[in-house]
Amino acid sequence: MKVVLDHLTKRFPSRTKKGDDVIAVNDFCFEIPDGKLIGLLGPSGCGKSTTLNLICGLEPPTDGKIFFGEDDVTRLPPENRGVGLVFQNYALYPHLTVQENILFPLQNLKGENKLSKQDMLEKAMQAARLVQIEGLMERKPSELSGGQQQRVAIARALVKMPKVLLLDEPLSNLDARLRLQTREEIRRIQQETGITTIFVTHDQDEAMSISDMIVVMKDGIVQQIGAPQDVYDNPTNLFVATFLGTPPINVFDAKIKNGEICIGDRAVMPAPGIRDQDAVLGIRPEGFILDQNGPLEMKLNRVEVMGRDTSVVSTHPASRNAQVRSIISARNQVDKNAETVRFSLIPDKVKVFSVKGENAALWAGSLESGRAHEEE
Ligand code: ADP
Ligand code: MG
Repeated sequence: MKVVLDHLTKRFPSRTKKGDDVIAVNDFCFEIPDGKLIGLLGPSGCGKSTTLNLICGLEPPTDGKIFFGEDDVTRLPPENRGVGLVFQNYALYPHLTVQENILFPLQNLKGENKLSKQDMLEKAMQAARLVQIEGLMERKPSELSGGQQQRVAIARALVKMPKVLLLDEPLSNLDARLRLQTREEIRRIQQETGITTIFVTHDQDEAMSISDMIVVMKDGIVQQIGAPQDVYDNPTNLFVATFLGTPPINVFDAKIKNGEICIGDRAVMPAPGIRDQDAVLGIRPEGFILDQNGPLEMKLNRVEVMGRDTSVVSTHPASRNAQVRSIISARNQVDKNAETVRFSLIPDKVKVFSVKGENAALWAGSLESGRAHEEE
C-alpha cells in the first residue's frame, strides 16, 4: 500500500503565553512507494515520532492530508487504518503470555472481521514463526530477553497483516550485537511480507543499512529524501553531510579561487564551474590518499591500525573539528613519528557547501563540469 503525505503539518501550541508554537512536522510531502522500507532519520526532537503518530492516527494533523493508496485516511481513527505499530519500549502486557499478547489485536475484531478461535491461533502462530519465537508462546514477558520481547511486539504488530508497519526506534533498548541481528531480521520480515514500512531511528548506520529510501529530518523539516547511497554521495546541505557517515565527514573552512578549492593558501583540488567565494568543505574520511607530495598537509596526531583499515588522526588550523580523521587501507605505511602527514583527495569524496544559511551543496565532487550546482 502506498502512503501519501500531502503537506502534512503538526503544530503544538506553546505551553506558556509568550512562548512560540512548536512546529513538530512542517509541510511534509512524500509519496512512499508500495512495499518499500523507509528509514526516517534525524536527531532527537526533529519530529520523527510525531510523523508516525500522524500516519497511524494517534495525533490529528494541523494541516495537510494522509492517503493510504487512493483513500484519504486523515480523519480515520487509528483502529480503522490497518496500521501495525512497534515502539521502543515493547509495551507488552506483563500479565499475559507471549501467545496472549500476540492474540490480543485479533480478539478485538468485530462483526464480519471476527475470527474463530482456531483461525486466531493459526494467525498468532504464523506471526510468531515470522519473528522466530514460536517456541516461547507460553512464557510471560518477564521471562524473555529484551530482544525476544521486541520480537513479540513485532509479531503483535504483524498479526493482523497491517497495510502499513510503523516502527519507532524499535532497537534502541537492545545491546549492540542484538541490534545488528534484529535489524537484519526486520529487513527480512519486511521483504517476506511486502508490507510498506516506516522505520524511525536516530542512528544513521541503522537507517542506511536496511532502508530502500531514507528521509532525513531536522527541526520538523525534511532535508532530503533518497536512496541511502545517493544521499550519502550527494548530500543536499552540510547538515545531511555531517549526519550521515561514521566516522563523520571532516569539515574545513575553505575558499574557491580560480576554479580551485583552497584551504588556507593551498589549492587542494580543482573544482571546475564554481565561482570564487568563501565555502565550507566536507571531506569524507575515505576521501584521503596518502601522498608525500599531496597538497593537503596536516599535523599528525596518531595512527590507529584497525585491521583492514588504518585511521590517521591529524589536526589542521582550518578544520572545524578538533581532529581530522582519515581512513586509509592498512597496506599503507604511515610513519607514526613524523610531524606531519600529506594527502591528496579523491574528488567524489569531497563536497563543497555555501557558507550562507543552510550551507546548501554547491558541488558534490564531480570533476566533469556541468555537475556543479551553483546557487541562483
Ligand atoms: P523525535 O521523535 O524526532 O525525537 P518528536 O516528534 O517526539 O521528535 O518531537 C518533535 C517536537 O515536538 C519536539 O520539539 C517535541 O518537544 C515536540 N512535541 C512532541 N509532542 C508534543 C506534545 N504532545 N506537545 C507539545 N510538544 C510536543
Ligand atoms: Mg521519537
